[in-house]
Amino acid sequence: MTGSHQSLRVDTPVRAGGLMIVAVLLAASSLVTGSCRQSQPATDTASAAQSQSAPIAQRPEMHAEDFDPKPDTPPALKVSGERAFKTLKEFVALGPRYLGSEGHTKAEQFIVNHLEGAQIEQDRFNVQTAAGPFAMDNIIAKFTGKKDGVIVLAGHYDTNLPLKNTSFIGANDGGSNVGLMLEIASQLRTHPPEGYSVWLLFTDGEEATVNWTDEDSVYGSKQLAKKWADDGTAAKVKAFLLLDMIGDKDLHLEHDTNSTPWLVDVVYRAGKRVGQESHFSARSNSIQDDHLPFRAVGIPVADIIDLDYGFENIYHHTTEDTPDKCSAASLQVVGDIVMETIRALNTR
Ligand SMILES: [Zn+2]
Repeated sequence: MTGSHQSLRVDTPVRAGGLMIVAVLLAASSLVTGSCRQSQPATDTASAAQSQSAPIAQRPEMHAEDFDPKPDTPPALKVSGERAFKTLKEFVALGPRYLGSEGHTKAEQFIVNHLEGAQIEQDRFNVQTAAGPFAMDNIIAKFTGKKDGVIVLAGHYDTNLPLKNTSFIGANDGGSNVGLMLEIASQLRTHPPEGYSVWLLFTDGEEATVNWTDEDSVYGSKQLAKKWADDGTAAKVKAFLLLDMIGDKDLHLEHDTNSTPWLVDVVYRAGKRVGQESHFSARSNSIQDDHLPFRAVGIPVADIIDLDYGFENIYHHTTEDTPDKCSAASLQVVGDIVMETIRALNTR
């Protein structure tokens, strides 16, 4: 991470492996030249994934308040945090899901089996990683709506290759979003979208294979964002909502400065309407995650993530990341916020 965020770094940025988090010191930001730096797009990480061939279409300026539901806006789809949590536990019981492992193959099968009835697309590809060549598989379940346009809900399912010799199962990191996304899939199966189509994207290769860098991370998202830019899909995507580490019992969702501001505000306003604003953290972070390659091809993105997992994030990327640190209640909160966000996005 270089350029515009350099001066906003704390002395020792926390390298989170799957994510790198840089605390934005509000006091410090006023000492550097401040707002102009922060308002620059963070093209440092984005450029690595950006397609060279496809021009990025300019989108009209959006305002979050324009998405507030009207009295006649249909209600949000209901999801169950309990069922999402049950699925989380079943999913992580498959074992570690690092690239090339038996658990990874089982995870792909588990996801596909749970998506029965949906239109499934598997984006399989081979990639040279920092740790050698691997086969990867982004799984996309498409639920077709009545309006022209797509809302993408995404989250990764792989676990960390560098933790392959441990019992790391990523209950929160990879498991929580899969649990919730499969619960949303089961609801969409019986209640197809009335508005925009909803695509559930299970990304592969989010985690670094050696050490997190722009090159060694978010492999699946870089591959798919380029593909979507080249084939015109990117222009159809109204919003890309990323779910990551959303199962933490003690839920504090970050304010991510790398996400698209108006979309972050739509999510926040949705959270307020469902009475869950106390779960939004006041602190701001620049988060590197699966959303950045999609932002780089012009798609509005919001990363819904809690990067404070245990005291000082102590459970993150450790064998302590187990289901007992997560809860059905947190998955319910995020599920309610996400479904209300989709409801809001459908007002326009
Ligand atoms: Zn991770």
